[in-house]
Amino acid sequence: MHAEVIAIGDELTSGQRLDTNSRWMAAELGVLGVPVTFHTTVPDTLEAGVEAFRAAAARASLVVVTGGLGPTADDLTRDVLAAVAGVPLDLSTEALAAVEARFSRRGMPMPESNRRQAVFPRGSRIIPNPEGTAPGIDVDLPGGGGGSCRVFALPGVPAEMRVMWKASVEPAVLAMLPDRATIVQRRIKCFGAGESAVEAMLPDLVRRGRDPLVGITAHEATITLRIAARGRDEAECLAKMAPTEATIRECLGTIAYGVEDDEIEDAVLSSLAARGRTLATIESGTAGRVAALVAQAAARRDEAAEVFRGGIVVPTGLTDVRAAAAEVRRRHAAAVGIAVGDVRPAAEGRRAVDVAIADDAGTTVVEHVFGGGADLAPTRAAKSAINLVRLRMLEGGGR
Ligand code: AMP
Ligand code: MG
Repeated sequence: MHAEVIAIGDELTSGQRLDTNSRWMAAELGVLGVPVTFHTTVPDTLEAGVEAFRAAAARASLVVVTGGLGPTADDLTRDVLAAVAGVPLDLSTEALAAVEARFSRRGMPMPESNRRQAVFPRGSRIIPNPEGTAPGIDVDLPGGGGGSCRVFALPGVPAEMRVMWKASVEPAVLAMLPDRATIVQRRIKCFGAGESAVEAMLPDLVRRGRDPLVGITAHEATITLRIAARGRDEAECLAKMAPTEATIRECLGTIAYGVEDDEIEDAVLSSLAARGRTLATIESGTAGRVAALVAQAAARRDEAAEVFRGGIVVPTGLTDVRAAAAEVRRRHAAAVGIAVGDVRPAAEGRRAVDVAIADDAGTTVVEHVFGGGADLAPTRAAKSAINLVRLRMLEGGGR
């Protein structure tokens, strides 16, 4: 089975908004083992929609769609689906009651236009929307060679789309697969090497068609490895996944700092907390980002509330990071002090920053050099500084 993705909206075809939903849905389908062969983007017109759905339904047995389910006259997905299916639109009293209930919970009367969101092509199934007013549509269209094509149409609002995907579409797609499978995913988070360097450290793991599948993505210098295993049940998936995870950890060593939603600052806070150590910061080139990241992480991790003692932000001109790290440590009576200097241009369009770390074993200054453009520089510098604390703890720094 292969799938196609259709994104609907004038804002997409005109370039006003980036179509991130198609990318997200295609990646999700990839994890489920369903290859995506076409992406189509169409404006909010009946003609374009009908043409796109006819073509997609003739080629694929699964089509996933976002957009055009809103209450306004330009939201035409339901009309397009009814036209291609050759059926009328029926009002669902159940769906109407759900939309009305949503408005009355907010103490508002339902605008007449929202009635449209309770209208569905005859014979289709309603995909509940726990996050908004627009339910999705699950419908069969005439497909190629006399067969049929299953369509899942979801709203364009990314947060609604994702919740509905996980609750309704993913289980339905899994049930369509010939070998009824369970998929278990695990993310391993890495910091301290670039995407291609990480890939090069892994022996042929990031390869299409591998089982378990390993994917790699990068965001603001943090690398995520996603392992997805297919099996009859969760236990089988976990058993399949274990050797792959072990290989990854062995190859990457200290570069792998956490799992799932862990950020580098979460890892640092837990390792400081585990050792009963505290942290203070002073920074210029990162404009307070080190303190902000650490404080935000402390707020979401109860056990780390005592770890962060305070931070100082200074304008550019922090040149003696060695003295500054020792001074901020003393001033806040912290076990560890870090100081981040100015970000400066380095060779080949790269950037450099000096970071000092002071603890009771002494003070160390490290120069970090990184690429990635001016916008990203403060974030990269901040994460590098935070990572330095983590590495110091791993070395047994300050006991
Ligand atoms: P719609 O369901 O078409 O009313 O879309 C509602 C909103 O979701 C739009 O105004 C966009 O801001 C956003 N949106 C729609 N389609 C996409 C897409 N493919 N990727 C990202 N955002 C989208
Ligand atoms: Mg729209």
